[in-house]
Amino acid sequence: LKGSNDGMTSTDKEIERALRPLSFEDFTGQAKILENLEVFVRAAMQRGEALDHVLLHGPPGLGKTTLSHIIANELNAGIKMTSGPVLDKPSDLAGLLTNLQPNDVLFIDEIHRLNPIVEEYLYSAMEDYKIDIMLDSGPNARTVQIKLNPFTLIGATTRAGMLTSPLRARFGISSRLEYYDAKLLTTIVQRSAAILGTPIDEAGAYEIARRSRGTPRIANNLLRRTRDFAQIKGNGYINVDIAEIALSALEVDQNGLDEMDNRILMTIIDKFKGGPVGLSTIATACGEESETIEEVYEPFLIQEGFLKRTSRGREATERAYIHLGIVPPYKPGE
Ligand code: ATP
Repeated sequence: LKGSNDGMTSTDKEIERALRPLSFEDFTGQAKILENLEVFVRAAMQRGEALDHVLLHGPPGLGKTTLSHIIANELNAGIKMTSGPVLDKPSDLAGLLTNLQPNDVLFIDEIHRLNPIVEEYLYSAMEDYKIDIMLDSGPNARTVQIKLNPFTLIGATTRAGMLTSPLRARFGISSRLEYYDAKLLTTIVQRSAAILGTPIDEAGAYEIARRSRGTPRIANNLLRRTRDFAQIKGNGYINVDIAEIALSALEVDQNGLDEMDNRILMTIIDKFKGGPVGLSTIATACGEESETIEEVYEPFLIQEGFLKRTSRGREATERAYIHLGIVPPYKPGE
């Protein structure tokens, strides 16, 4: 039930596809980003041009892939999907680029993991819609320049900080997706339940939503597991009671935190007296990379009031102590 989509079965993928919103109108949340994207898409279409390249960043499962499909749909354009680690050599990328129709979208997931040689090759494609292709090898080797159809590159990454500055500079549009609040996630759970044909009341949807780590993918997964409990242990209807039974059987945290969230908080409290402690020290103690903690875990913990960022480092809040069942230290004057 993690935010990442690793280890998904083909049925999981089919259901995920069925639950995926297809238009701006269908997409819940991220209002500011959507408002801007709608303007940029309409303007590009009116001019008959390709949309500027778009970088979507933010933690996993918040809708980067979904939004990319929506952008292509709204542009009436085709979309080709690939990911950074899959593009081994420039010819892999050339194959994709030369097959794009005018104004199509090329989606590169995990764009921070591009091979540097492939990345450099992408620069001229993004900038001038041109690439150099090597013909023959050995003494006959020569390069020819190929003109590409205008296209939009949509790059997705959980780790914007890992992007090189030349690559980052080539995206005209850059949007950071934020965690969803429980109210938005309740709407998403209700929508997904309707698609799955599962009756659910608002309190049941809210219980699932508030324990989903602000992440639609987790909310959808928990909804599907709760549906199983409702079917076998109840009468098929999801209310707050069946949601609680399901979520506690699945050992979903009361506040929706995952194992690493809890490990980070416990480490700060247990090993560093609640902080302040530096990011890299926390990272070493938790066995996770600093950048991942900073870009994937910390934003949610801060948003939910479990962690504070001060000039001297990270500090666990009183809420973190209470969450972990530890008595907060007495701080005179607070
Ligand atoms: P990753 O980077 O891990 O691939 P992602 O950010 O690309 O994640 P998506 O694959 O787009 O996330 O979304 C995950 C699931 O959550 C999809 O099934 C999608 O239907 C659902 N989802 C995401 N955002 C929304 C939303 N705003 N409204 C409804 N469903 C959403």
